[in-house]
Amino acid sequence: MNTLIQEVIAQIKAIPDPEIPVITIEELGMLRNITFEEGRLNVIITPTYTGCPAMNNIEKDIISIAKEKDINCSVKTILSPAWTTDWIGNEAREKLRKFGIAPPEKATSNKAELLGKDPEVRCPQCNSTNTVMVNYFGSTACKALYKCNNCLEPFDYFKCH
Ligand SMILES: [Zn+2]
Repeated sequence: MNTLIQEVIAQIKAIPDPEIPVITIEELGMLRNITFEEGRLNVIITPTYTGCPAMNNIEKDIISIAKEKDINCSVKTILSPAWTTDWIGNEAREKLRKFGIAPPEKATSNKAELLGKDPEVRCPQCNSTNTVMVNYFGSTACKALYKCNNCLEPFDYFKCH
């Protein structure tokens, strides 16, 4: 693999999530695989949430990065296995928190959410778990709006799925 290809791959990995610009699609776990075979770059992505309108933009971004360097590129979206919030790395969770979004809770409370129980959501400002959901649909469909009863700040919670 030559340096040009490596450069393009690095640029693709660094594409920010359209909704949470502090996190890259790689950190979110959306970028599943990149291979370079017979002069073609093959990129596989999985949406964080089925029907997420941002996916089209990510695909366009990937193709335009490759096009700029005259590299053939195809982007494939795979839905199975479905993306889960557990794919978000620890570093990315910390970035989310700093950005003011409560990162999704890991698998155990995830199951509580599936069973219809409210997950324990920690306030990204003061770390209190004394929080309450205000609206299941926050600023985007992927987030829920919460309010902290301790510091009274509203914040977005990245929903588990
Ligand atoms: Zn708080």
